[in-house]
Amino acid sequence: MKLQAVIGLEIHVQLKTKSKMFCSCSNVLGDGQPNTSICPICMGYPGTLPVPNAQAIAWIQKAGVALGCELAQDSKFDRKSYFYPDLPKGYQISQYDKPFCLKGSFPLVVSGQERVIGITRIHLEEDAAKNTHSKDGKSTLVDYNRAGTPLMEIVTEPDFASPEEARIFLQELQRAMRALGISDADMEKGQMRCDANVSLRKEGETTLYPKTEIKNVNSFKFVEKALLFEIDRQKKLWEAGDVPTHATRGWNSETGKTEAQREKEEAADYRYFPEPDIPPFHFTKEELTEIKASIPEMPWQARARFMREYNTSEANANVLLSDEELARLYEDTASEIAQADLERTDIAGEEQGILMKLAANIILNDVRAVRMETQADPIRITAENLAELAVLVHQGKIGSNAVRPVLAEMQKTGGDPDPIIEKLGLAQVSDTNQLDDVIAHVISENPDVVAKIKAGKEAGLQYLMGQVMAKTKGAANPGMVIELLKKNIQ
Ligand SMILES: [Zn+2]
Repeated sequence: MKLQAVIGLEIHVQLKTKSKMFCSCSNVLGDGQPNTSICPICMGYPGTLPVPNAQAIAWIQKAGVALGCELAQDSKFDRKSYFYPDLPKGYQISQYDKPFCLKGSFPLVVSGQERVIGITRIHLEEDAAKNTHSKDGKSTLVDYNRAGTPLMEIVTEPDFASPEEARIFLQELQRAMRALGISDADMEKGQMRCDANVSLRKEGETTLYPKTEIKNVNSFKFVEKALLFEIDRQKKLWEAGDVPTHATRGWNSETGKTEAQREKEEAADYRYFPEPDIPPFHFTKEELTEIKASIPEMPWQARARFMREYNTSEANANVLLSDEELARLYEDTASEIAQADLERTDIAGEEQGILMKLAANIILNDVRAVRMETQADPIRITAENLAELAVLVHQGKIGSNAVRPVLAEMQKTGGDPDPIIEKLGLAQVSDTNQLDDVIAHVISENPDVVAKIKAGKEAGLQYLMGQVMAKTKGAANPGMVIELLKKNIQ
């Protein structure tokens, strides 16, 4: 029996607004003592009135645009009633039938293939407090600092066909949240929390069978693993002739298995009704158009552009785009190279592609390393100078092992590579006359190795090259050394 997976995600993202969702308590909870960022509003005292956080609403609309959603002209908050110690009011202010964002579609690229993932809705709600259960299970401590903080919930259509697709989507989502500056979306810190729903069906069928809800998985890797485990568990049930029934399960990262949990209440049990203390919202078409125009280029759009315009690999584009400064330096350097207005060269055509790759490698390997070493923020290396450095490497004027010291100095002074190379004495020796002497010396010092090379053991060449490098303090042009060695030995 050929079975296929049907996966949907529900993701909660903590928004990093200054204050909570409906009161002015600080939303920065990091190192604070428990129960210090609370007030009568977020503690649900009778007679208090919630005031919606305008920043949180503006941000959810930005997220909506980024995920290809329609922004609702009319929206409202609703009360979702349930009783639990982490919910002081006895209800949560959430959104039921009129969320801020609806009907999105997200282009997800998986192994070079574009898939479209539907976004059902994005709504805004307040988070609950944080329960800490004692190890003996006898007591629970409640920290209300988190109660009433803004939480965005994104619900996708069951459009993922594999655990890998779900993981890639979550990674894209994290990048989007960071690019918009609305959440750090760190799963390990609980800033982004994911419930994954999965069911199976026979290939070609369109029926949706009862799903398993896997709750609160807290890393990209675990989402993928939990789904793989669950697909396997359900497959066995199907093969045994049982169609799995609806289940709620939790992921146990220690056992690497999902485990049965208590069943969640159905929507009707929450007795949703419109929040009477917050008037409904209306946005004009002009307001929504303005929001749409304010969205910066999203990371996946930038990645596609990097790959198209600069021929960057997907993996490199992702690393570059994870650091705004590096991405900008790379773009500016690439455009310097593309303009080919580098004075002492006539770079064109194919060479441009080579130089762009070289510049990308220098940024990914060396600029990153230099910045980590010096802890220097921001980058002082200019795009113009970096392009020049790439040209010097390409022309063999400096060796690749000289790149890092030159960059370190460029970062320190913000200067041109040329005088720095001269000052540090790192210019590569490409002058045959200068190299001839050293090579003749190395050959006469190593008759055994030379004899082996003559007998066809080419590995000896690397040894001789090492000797030449040592004698020139690494300044010799390696390509030229190999050529000269071969010529002189024959
Ligand atoms: Zn408060």
